[in-house]
Amino acid sequence: MARESIPDQSRSAPSCGPGATVTAMVAGEGPTSELSPEVSTTPADAAPDLPPTRRRITTRSVVQAVVGARSMSWLAKLPLWTGTLVLGYHRMHREGEGTEFDPGALSATPAALADQLEFISRYFEVVSPAEIAEQPESSRRRVVITFDDGYRDNYDLALPVLRAHGVPATFFLATRRLDAPSVPWWDELAWMVKQSARHELEPGEWLDGSIRLEGDRRGAIRRLADAFKALPSERTDAFLEFCGEAAGTGRCDPERGRELWMTWEMAAELSDAGMTIGGHSASHPVLGRSNPDVQRREIEECAARLDEELGIPMRHFAYPVGLPTSFDDVTRRILEEVGVELAFSLYGGYVPAGRFDPYDVPRTSVSTGEGAPSFRARLALPRLFARW
Ligand SMILES: [Zn+2]
Repeated sequence: MARESIPDQSRSAPSCGPGATVTAMVAGEGPTSELSPEVSTTPADAAPDLPPTRRRITTRSVVQAVVGARSMSWLAKLPLWTGTLVLGYHRMHREGEGTEFDPGALSATPAALADQLEFISRYFEVVSPAEIAEQPESSRRRVVITFDDGYRDNYDLALPVLRAHGVPATFFLATRRLDAPSVPWWDELAWMVKQSARHELEPGEWLDGSIRLEGDRRGAIRRLADAFKALPSERTDAFLEFCGEAAGTGRCDPERGRELWMTWEMAAELSDAGMTIGGHSASHPVLGRSNPDVQRREIEECAARLDEELGIPMRHFAYPVGLPTSFDDVTRRILEEVGVELAFSLYGGYVPAGRFDPYDVPRTSVSTGEGAPSFRARLALPRLFARW
């Protein structure tokens, strides 16, 4: 079939990141929009935890496949853009290995990361956030590599690859995960949906309609995650209770998350290896949906714990979820007050030289399902392909 010859351009955003909402935001961009109908080529019984291999044929996807072909790597040498492109990773996983939690959070295998680092190092300058803060308006072509949340697989699987390539990265830690390991809300929602024996989730008073549990259930996970992100933070616990009941699974035992997170010793080792450590709040609420007191507590606790455990001042921060609605002027002001110099969002785009907002540095999300051509095309032509 023709579609089998098109490299995979699908990108699956993590539920803890912008997720499907960003896809909706690019609607109306014409027939090449990411919202084109999808064709799933993954058999229902094949590695259901891994992002499905979705292939969509659109003008844009064909151009992306051509631009991203290995034989076209020379395109990356051309000065088609200047500025800063920031890549957002979440979880690492071994080849063929899935997760009982959120499959959308899987960003790369060690082999894929090695391939990506080789490509980036060959054509671009990999820099740290400190270098961006020092020279924000640089007209060079700079790439920053970031990992969100503090998953232990970052230490186990990403650090060795970064070391082998001599490439610096930044790790944004949600400090309460290291202090008291548990299952975060996006992984808990995914766990409930995947474990549920039901065919459908009733809407109750929380959802705008029932949610069918079919196929790989990613659509259901996304809908619950989107509903969570829209709630004021004081109502999110009640929502998780409702989801546990609707799925018939109850809440996920926090003990299942014990091995998910780095220890502080591992974080110290990352820092000793020359990696940057930044903040990602204490408990990972959507700050823009939280009242000013909660925002301040979350940011100050995160800064205090980084200082106490690692002796590191919090100069860099990644907004949990990272949508435009995930932070507001209050968030910006508190970050400035505690000494944060750069804060990163996660709804796509890059920073063209000369256009710089230190409290909304855009990032583009890397997903394990997207394939090498999609990744390379994004680096070569971010204006076209780093839209989310
Ligand atoms: Zn996060």
